Amino acid sequence: MNELTLYHFMTDKLNLYSDIGNIIALKQRAKWRNIKLNVVEVNETEGVTFDGCDIFFIGGGSDREQALATKELSKIKSKLKDAIEEGMPGLTICGGYQFLGNKYITPDGTELEGLGILDFYTQSKKERLTGDIVIESDTFGTIVGFENHGGRTYHNYDTLGKVTHGFGNNDEDGKEGIHYKNLLGTYLHGPILPKNHEITDYLLEQACIRKGIPFEPRQLDNTAEEAAKQAIVDRFENK
Ligand code: GLN
Repeated sequence: MNELTLYHFMTDKLNLYSDIGNIIALKQRAKWRNIKLNVVEVNETEGVTFDGCDIFFIGGGSDREQALATKELSKIKSKLKDAIEEGMPGLTICGGYQFLGNKYITPDGTELEGLGILDFYTQSKKERLTGDIVIESDTFGTIVGFENHGGRTYHNYDTLGKVTHGFGNNDEDGKEGIHYKNLLGTYLHGPILPKNHEITDYLLEQACIRKGIPFEPRQLDNTAEEAAKQAIVDRFENK
């Protein structure tokens, strides 16, 4: 059986609104393709390299946990940046997405330094952006999820798509997330991957291509996943 290895960073601090479900979805869709996905939990980063890593995941967290995680991850920020630049697939959620940027400004004006891997910033406000969210993406089609964040993220990179219901990166430009090389950052919890099989498969396929192992069959039966997605879309359309 072919194998892939996923590094799951900061599992002891970052896991909101069932983010762990993303790992379960990746494992299951890999298994359906006869690929074993090994998950390595990385909570202490000293000496960690990306040599054995094929794909990585960082979940969301409160401002406090996010600050602690940033401190730990800053020890390997240049290695993480190199991995992203070299095209390693990765998924980062909410707090885990925000700290890839230069800074996170809390509602009381305190500036928390980010990892500075990408050139963007997040300004947080007391008023939170909360609820179900629907996005139309050129790459992934319709994406659904749940968001709950005070942070408003501003950048000029490619995004995951256009928000049709909800907020996304901020409450101004109607865009959601970031798509840089094979790195995806998003505000979507829920968790995002079980309902959005296109994104799960994208991450797995990129990892397989890089490792030189087959990603077959390309298409699976997605009836259950599509029904779960439609249930969220219907919440808006039946209002
Ligand atoms: N603390 C961040 C915010 O409120 C991230 C929250 C989250 O990960 N859901 O913007």
